[in-house]
Amino acid sequence: MARIAISGAGIIGCATAVHLIERGHDVTVFEKDLSGLPASVGNAGILAVPEIDPLARPDMLFSAPKWLADPLGPLTLRWQDLPALTPWLLAFLLAARPGQVERSRAAMLSLMRDALEAHERLAATVGISGHMKKSGALTIFDSESKLNDAFPHEEKNAALLGHEVEKLDRAAARAQVPALEGNFAGGIFSSGYQTFLDPLALLRGLQAFVRERGHLVEAEVARVNQQAASIEIVTAAGERQQFDKAVITSGIWSRDLVRSLGLSVLLETERGYNTTFVDPTVTLELPVFFSEHGFVATPLRNALRIGGAVELAKPDAPANFARAAAMRQKMRRYVPSLPESGGTEWMGRRPSTPDSIPVISLHPSDPRIAMAFGHGHLGLTLSAVTGRSIASLLEAGEQEHLNPFSIRRFQ
Ligand SMILES: Cc1cc2nc3c(=O)[nH]c(=O)nc-3n(C[C@H](O)[C@H](O)[C@H](O)COP(=O)(O)OP(=O)(O)OC[C@H]3O[C@@H](n4cnc5c(N)ncnc54)[C@H](O)[C@@H]3O)c2cc1C
Repeated sequence: MARIAISGAGIIGCATAVHLIERGHDVTVFEKDLSGLPASVGNAGILAVPEIDPLARPDMLFSAPKWLADPLGPLTLRWQDLPALTPWLLAFLLAARPGQVERSRAAMLSLMRDALEAHERLAATVGISGHMKKSGALTIFDSESKLNDAFPHEEKNAALLGHEVEKLDRAAARAQVPALEGNFAGGIFSSGYQTFLDPLALLRGLQAFVRERGHLVEAEVARVNQQAASIEIVTAAGERQQFDKAVITSGIWSRDLVRSLGLSVLLETERGYNTTFVDPTVTLELPVFFSEHGFVATPLRNALRIGGAVELAKPDAPANFARAAAMRQKMRRYVPSLPESGGTEWMGRRPSTPDSIPVISLHPSDPRIAMAFGHGHLGLTLSAVTGRSIASLLEAGEQEHLNPFSIRRFQ
């Protein structure tokens, strides 16, 4: 049994903590804001197993200039933050080379294959059930040509993962989701997606397990000190505690701790926005992706959440909630019965690497320290498999199948 500290009680930190507790370790999770609503809470609630394609790829670069021209479109950049974002953006451009796209796809495929089973086991360990729905998801397209272009690739991904996909005309798509009364060409149904009905309740459930079987402390980790006989955690309040091992799972804020350990990393925020309608007057039967507009509407437990899009900006830049309003406005083209006002708006920070591959790694020269962050759009989906991987890295050391996720690629 080891004494292990974890910095950050988001979904990645909590899933890691549960795995380590299950293996008999004495785990303390430090969280700077226990009542906060980080990305792990406000996300779209989708287990997105089919999404193995990295964001940096040639077709994305081709669409980017058009998107960037619309300040409320699917992709925006806060131009005053450009100098800070430049190293990440240059690496993002390089990551769109075909060889790297294939490496990212292979890495994501290897994690996605275990994502669902890992979530089922995690829930069983914690004693949660009924929190996921085998919903599948529908992606709708405005034009027939975009639908026809997308379908063969979706078929290929589905075959790799063992899912079904089906091309639907507008009438067949509407038969699945009758509220889609507006104009569109058709859609693709994929059975590979599932819905987490309440992401906040899931996180609180994991945190309750950690509180009961380990320690959950409200404190900000200011430094992780490598000492000969221990790892010292220093909190922002100046308290010091000694551990055998430590894990950094602090979302976007991980980069500060990692840099203070003498390591390099390219991690920036893709900020996203959404609106949640509680007891909504309009119902969707399953999540609907509006593929040409970069957002998704998810039916949660007693709620409908509409959001997504990407805003490249510094983590602490002021939020621009006009982006949430723009997505509601666009959705009304397809679902005219969606209310014009109401709902709760939220902004969250996706911690993203340029190649879309998360860091799931040991410190290259100190195997007492592990790190898991940079899951971008897919942290909820990959949380359980990440937690399991970190537990096995800390117990058994480096493993070849986890090499693509090593922080060594940034050194
Ligand atoms: C709009 C939107 C929609 C999304 N939809 C989906 C989806 O449908 N499916 C999916 O799989 N993913 C989705 N994601 C992505 C997913 O939410 C993230 O990848 C994931 O939540 C990241 O989890 P995390 O634990 O790494 O980070 P976070 O959720 O940011 O948690 C990090 C935690 O660490 C704490 N912390 C930070 N620094 C310190 C410190 N120094 N000391 C102590 N504590 C600290 C923070 O307070 C926070 O609680 C979405 C994201 C957004 C923004």
